[in-house]
Amino acid sequence: MGSKSNHTLDIRFWDVEHGSAAYMRARTKDVVIDCGANDDWSPLRWINDSRFGVNNIDYLIISHPHHDHIEDLDVMKELGLAPSMLQRPKSATELVGEGLEMAQENGDTEYIEDAEYYLNRLDEYDGDPDTYPSDPSWALDEQNLSKVRADGGIPDRGVTFHTFGTSDSDLGSTRFKKLNNLSRVTVVNSFGFQYVTMGDLMPKGIEELKDNDSAMSAIADSEVLVAPHHGRDSSYDDELVEHINPDLVLVSDEGDPKNPATTDYYSHATGVPVEHEDTGNMETRYVLTTRNDGRIRIQASNPDTWVVSVFGRDYASQKADTKRYDRLV
Ligand SMILES: [Zn+2]
Repeated sequence: MGSKSNHTLDIRFWDVEHGSAAYMRARTKDVVIDCGANDDWSPLRWINDSRFGVNNIDYLIISHPHHDHIEDLDVMKELGLAPSMLQRPKSATELVGEGLEMAQENGDTEYIEDAEYYLNRLDEYDGDPDTYPSDPSWALDEQNLSKVRADGGIPDRGVTFHTFGTSDSDLGSTRFKKLNNLSRVTVVNSFGFQYVTMGDLMPKGIEELKDNDSAMSAIADSEVLVAPHHGRDSSYDDELVEHINPDLVLVSDEGDPKNPATTDYYSHATGVPVEHEDTGNMETRYVLTTRNDGRIRIQASNPDTWVVSVFGRDYASQKADTKRYDRLV
């Protein structure tokens, strides 16, 4: 069993095969960024059932409502884990509606359930000042859970979440690309330690981001970057990655990735020591992938004090998978 963290920010970046899901404890708050899941395993059920005992999500961020980022919403519905605060690209609603119609025609029942919950339950939240180009941000410390921060600057206390995005739902030639380009960019900041995640942004969305001065200023010189669009080569942008200047890059995807830009990210990352939780071995790493490294944990207090560990994965048998989940913390 892993130990309880003394750090202000404790992130679990789950292995959900194709998709994206992260849980973080930000001081006293439970935060979820994206709700991917796989057929055998639900991150939300895990944090509810396991020693985490999470029965209320304080803050949920959905980068964009594609299935691989909302697949766990049926479990959220079942367990009554609906969040106190929600951030999502509000202008995606119409596109999700179109996707839902298509799923109904195709009898894609899994997607129908998630999309209906997203539209009927989650879309009613009104906490998203999704206005371009303003930059909504929240201080997430004990006293000021939902206080809007106008400065957009680095907090001197607590953990803050700033999100950036465009409301232009016409960036891209297909519904798939349009929805990806609405992905909200989130900067999680613990006393200057920065974790940046940008959903499935594609080139047009990345160009918009690069034109947004306050977003660019917020993501500059971050410690950890979650690569856009599961590390796909088509979403790799040299200028952007150079600007973010990450120490470590995370890629969330399944075993057979399409054109990953892993080598490009590798050449830009500074590298950090990473502990293998099962063996205790340490090695310097630049890029971590859920497909090779399994569950990734990052505990951070500030830019000088943060540690990374991986749990490892084993595709050899179902038994190994079960064992992995049993021991997973
Ligand atoms: Zn995705």
